[in-house]
Amino acid sequence: MCGIVGYIGSQKASPILLAGLTKLEYRGYDSAGIAIIEDGKIDVQKDQGRVSNLYKIKEIENLNGTIGIAHTRWATHGTPSKENAHPQTSNNGDFAVVHNGIIENYVELRKELEEKGYKFFSSTDTEVIPNLIDYFYKNDNKNQKELKFVNAVKNATDKLVGSFAIEVLSKENPDNMIVVRKDSPLVIGKGYGENYIASDIPAILSYTKDFYLLENLEFALLSRDNIRFFDKNLKEFNKKSDTITWNAMAADKNGYEDYMLKEIYEQPTAIRETIGTRVNTGICKFDELNFTKEYLQNLKQIYIVACGTAMHAGLAVKSTIERFSKIRTEVDIASEFRYRDPLIDDKTLCIFISQSGETADTIAALKLSKEKGAKTLAISNVIGSSITREADYSIYTHAGPEIAVASTKAYTSQITLLTLLAIYLGQVLGNVKEQEVSKLVNEMLELPIKVEEVLKTTEKVKKIAKKLYQEKDVFYLGRGVDYTTAEEASLKLKEISYIHSEGYPAGELKHGTIALIEKGVNVIGIMTNKNLVKKTISNMEEIITRGAVTTAVLSESIYKDINTTIFDNLIIVPDTDESLSSIVTIVPLQLLAYYIAKEKGLDVDKPRNLAKSVTVE
Ligand code: GLU
Repeated sequence: MCGIVGYIGSQKASPILLAGLTKLEYRGYDSAGIAIIEDGKIDVQKDQGRVSNLYKIKEIENLNGTIGIAHTRWATHGTPSKENAHPQTSNNGDFAVVHNGIIENYVELRKELEEKGYKFFSSTDTEVIPNLIDYFYKNDNKNQKELKFVNAVKNATDKLVGSFAIEVLSKENPDNMIVVRKDSPLVIGKGYGENYIASDIPAILSYTKDFYLLENLEFALLSRDNIRFFDKNLKEFNKKSDTITWNAMAADKNGYEDYMLKEIYEQPTAIRETIGTRVNTGICKFDELNFTKEYLQNLKQIYIVACGTAMHAGLAVKSTIERFSKIRTEVDIASEFRYRDPLIDDKTLCIFISQSGETADTIAALKLSKEKGAKTLAISNVIGSSITREADYSIYTHAGPEIAVASTKAYTSQITLLTLLAIYLGQVLGNVKEQEVSKLVNEMLELPIKVEEVLKTTEKVKKIAKKLYQEKDVFYLGRGVDYTTAEEASLKLKEISYIHSEGYPAGELKHGTIALIEKGVNVIGIMTNKNLVKKTISNMEEIITRGAVTTAVLSESIYKDINTTIFDNLIIVPDTDESLSSIVTIVPLQLLAYYIAKEKGLDVDKPRNLAKSVTVE
């Protein structure tokens, strides 16, 4: 995955490209580069490391060209280095390409090109692309320049196996640029006498609100005041643009020190907007789903498939879906599911969750489920994202752009939306008691206020973070849905603080892991379920006896009910319905991970080795 930006217009391109890259750095940041058409040739400037390194390159400042492409890389083939940074060029420098994705057959293509006399200077899979384009361009005597350019890009992409979003510059066509995508994201922003390209809308949202969302293998030939679209057979067609309603502010830090903190604080709004107008007088509406009672009654099972935090959102609602629909529900990891020939058929409903809607493994799992005859439902935060274009049905969280790599507001919004979906399924099936639904719906409507209340624990959490930040290991324990929270809280800590941690089912500890507990080891126990609290307390006692330092996350009524003097630190969250407790309990633990990472002086928004949307396997 990577960030791609492009500009074609009458303004100096480099500042626009660099600003766009800075906004997209969360997509990749091991190297960056730009190419600009200047005085009839393509000037490429690139370096290893962050986008900020490009600001130090003097030559970039002096480039006055008004057409350019730019890239911030997250390496898949070849180490992060200047040679491997994009743009990659053809041997003769006539073509420059930036690429997001993976060319799976690049070894064969490289060999073919080497036999034709081409040389390779990088270890990337990408370098075959500009050289293939060059080869086809040179060998086309029929067409005039512009069409030769389109043809060459098309012929080159015909040879590519894998995923790609590419921007191409051509020295002989200094007033054009071509973009095309397959299974990697790319959008075109329409301006007046200028056009913008980006792999993600926020990068260019301050310039335009009108976007063309490119479908797989649609080619766009851009000039300053025109965009020509061609399908995969190069038949020209007209494309309608979409207007995006997010405002640029929403994709900015808005006064917060980091995107992650801003996004944690946006959770009440994100939850409120995700509920939106879906609940009305006790009815849960999903107009985009036309599930009939008969279809649902025939279902044997529901699968929820996702990766990372989104998969935890699935786990957090699994029992709620089973409770309301009475349909067996399994949660699976996309990268496992797609390779294990899962038992699914037309009596299975498969739900896929991906914040970005571009998660490669989740999309592949969706395609597999479709092939096996299951109906597919995508849950994403990004309208028009790849997953929603593949799925039979799509519903959206309305969390707004999530920029920080560690997901927070998308997670709680996903749980919110899935809980509404559970109620909807129960209602269509006629399985649910009105009273039970209205109780849960009322709790949901209260959630934003409860999350605001939880956010008030920040100062307390900061103090706990100060005690914990030098730890090597932290354990999170819980039972039932609190175990899911333990797993998600542990993932947050690992992602941004690099502290080893484990989320564990409290009752399972003594079957092995308790061997790791010794004096001074930190354990965080999450306890919100009245029926299970005594059991978890016993488990906590077992580790206190062995010298552990403990933090308890308790719901208010449990706090009043139990002896809390055994714990070293306490975090109290408001009571809510069991189905929703994973939302109120994760918030202080997101904050804890955040403040621990801050204490360690780490880059919270861009943790090492991670990128926001995992668009490769
Ligand atoms: N596969 C390409 C590379 O390793 C592109 C990676 C990316 O999407 O950043 O250079």
